[in-house]
Formats: sequence, C-alpha cells, structure tokens
Amino acid sequence: MKGGAIRLEQLAKSFDGVPAVTGIDLDIPAGQFYSLLGASGCGKTTTLRMIAGFEKPDSGRILLDGRDVAQDPPHKRPVNTVFQTYALFPFMTVWDNVAFGLKYQKAAKEETKRRVGEALELARMSEFAKRKPAQLSGGQQQRVALARALVLRPKVLLLDEPLGALDAKLRKQLQLELRALQREVGITFVYVTHDQEEALTMSDQIAVLAEGRIEQVGPPQEIYSAPATTFVAGFLGAANIFEAKVLECDNGSAVCSALDTRLGAAVDHSAAPGDAAIVIRPERITVQGADEPIGQGRNAIAGVVAAVIFLGHCTQVHVDVGASTPLVVEVPNHAGPGSVRHQPGERVNCVCTHDAVRVLHRSSAPVIADPVAEDALSVS
Ligand code: ATP
Repeated sequence: MKGGAIRLEQLAKSFDGVPAVTGIDLDIPAGQFYSLLGASGCGKTTTLRMIAGFEKPDSGRILLDGRDVAQDPPHKRPVNTVFQTYALFPFMTVWDNVAFGLKYQKAAKEETKRRVGEALELARMSEFAKRKPAQLSGGQQQRVALARALVLRPKVLLLDEPLGALDAKLRKQLQLELRALQREVGITFVYVTHDQEEALTMSDQIAVLAEGRIEQVGPPQEIYSAPATTFVAGFLGAANIFEAKVLECDNGSAVCSALDTRLGAAVDHSAAPGDAAIVIRPERITVQGADEPIGQGRNAIAGVVAAVIFLGHCTQVHVDVGASTPLVVEVPNHAGPGSVRHQPGERVNCVCTHDAVRVLHRSSAPVIADPVAEDALSVS
C-alpha cells in the first residue's frame, strides 16, 4: 500500500445558507498521520465527507495525487472511511465482514483469503475471525472496521472520531495501536477528532479548525508550544491567556506589556507592535517567594497565591495577578505531596523564561478554556 497526497484548494460548503467550511486550503502529504482537530461544529466532519465524496463541495478543488476527484463518486476515489459507529454487518462473521468489499470487487478466492488474512493480522483480530460482531467488545469491533477498510488497499484512510465510543483506557491503548498501524501500512490517515490529547499523541501534523476555517497547521510540538492564535492556545492544553500590548519586536523576540509588567516574549514573523494577547503554559512557570532574587533574563510577574490544589501528579498554584482570571502554575510533585510550600495569601513571583511567553494573534473564535483548570478553580 502506498500513500496518497491530498490538496484542498479553497474548499467551501454551506448548509441552508449557513457556512460549515469556508474556503480552506490544506496540503496533506502522502503517508502522514494528519489530524483535523477542533470543537464540535467547526467543520471537521464536513471536510472529511467532502474528501470521501459523501458531501459535494459548493466550490473549491480536492486533488488526490494531483488529480481533481471532486466530481468522482465515493467508490471511484482511492479512499476509505472508518466511522465512530462501526457499521459492521451483524449477521456476518468477522471474516465475512472484512471480505465483503473484496467480493464486491470480484477478487479471486485465493486472493481474498490472503488479503483478509493479512488485514485481520494487521488489526490483531485473526483469532476472532469466526465470531459475529455482537460477540466482540467495542475496541475489537473497531479493529474489524479498520481491517475492513484496509483490505481494500486505499491510498488514504479517513477516520471520523473512530475511538469516540470507547472508554478512556481503551481509547489510549488504541491510539498507540492506530499510530503503529499507520506507520506499518504507510498510507495517509486523515483523522478527525475534538480531543486535543488524542491529536497530540498520534499525529505527524495537526490542522486546528475553528468556525469552518483553519487556525493553524503544524506538528504537535509546534502547535502546543508556539500556538499562533488565542483559540489554538486555549484549545490545546491548559493555558494562561492574557491581554497584552507588543511594544517592540524583532527577529522572533519581543517586549510586551501585560499584567502591569514588562515581559520578554517569543513571537512569530508576522507579529507587529500593537494590541495582542499572550499565553504562558502553566508548566513553564515556577513560583518563588516575593523576596527571593529573580534569575537573569527571566520574567517575573508579582501576585498573591489564591489557591493551592493537589492533583496527584502535580500541584496547581493559582496566583492572583490582578487580572480577571488567576495565573495557573503547575508544579510537578517531584518531592511528593509537599512539593509546593507556598500558602494562600502569600506574596510570590511567578517566574519564567522569555520564550515561555508567546505572543498570540487574537482569533475571532472564542477561547475554549481548559476544563481541568476550570474545575479546579471552582473548588478553590
Ligand atoms: P462534530 O465534532 O460535532 O461532529 P464537526 O466539527 O465535525 O462537529 P460538522 O459536522 O462538519 O462539524 O458540522 C459543521 C456545521 O455544519 C455544523 O454547524 C453542523 O450543524 C452543520 N451541518 C453539518 N452537516 C449538516 C447537514 N447535513 N445539514 C445541515 N447542517 C449540517
């Protein structure tokens, strides 16, 4: 099996006059695990369905290995789809479910046997070949659905929240299995998910969508550590996002004013002096007493500890820094439950390096805050 490259050019689709996808451009290289990540309703599934041929674009082009397939019916495209609901035939065995598409293609008996055997092997389902879907767990049924899609040797596999119906533990296990499977078969996977952790775990590249358009594209590390917009910063991981003014910027670094403090920060090439926002990831900050000296080349934001919340692997310190939301600092519990010695009411400095502060463009899409931080806040 060989990977297929996908290029979307100005792809757009509305339903009853309401835009679902608003002219997106995407280059999905052959052989990548590529995720479309975004909140519910941002247009991920519509984009995937247009690539599959289940939905007709209003405008734009879909190129597969350079050929425009926008007019081809779904079965004429070298793609296959795995859905959240497994859609297996309940009255057929696992083997017959996987063989079904090959029968439709009139493959020879011997070839069918070999290919179904290989697909079941890939999906680690060989020993269940004689069972019916009702005799399998959700995870096993999804593996059969994968085998059934892979047996047809598509150039591209489209996956629409395929792990969405599984419990958290199984989800994590299957994430790693799917990633390994994609490496093994080498074809392009386009994976739709609203789960940021899932996208970070599995992807070569992630396209973050909001309101029917692309907010940012990049590898997981880049999207997380150098988010371009307030939406991306808020959607991926826990984030401290504050209003800021860029005072000067040059060659990737900037000086900005935020939280009544002058802060050194990192910027991308498109940044300019003026109104903006900043993000500081909670794990990039340390808390120290107000009287302790600040290391050279560090930012220091003064505040008062509002809450200390033990979360097992880490402790969150919420610091009132004079903004409408506290600055959240995450301290790993290297020394056990007593790793944080600061108490509510104590005056502290929140210290971080310049590159831990990232200047963001303000997105028109509202910031979706991290639910863990919000829950913790309501407890304090
Ligand atoms: P989810 O994660 O909830 O599936 P999504 O990001 O995949 O969301 P889409 O399913 O692509 O979003 O939907 C984008 C927008 O288009 C939504 O507002 C949705 O209500 C609308 N939409 C999608 N399909 C249809 C349809 N067949 N008819 C009318 N509106 C639709």
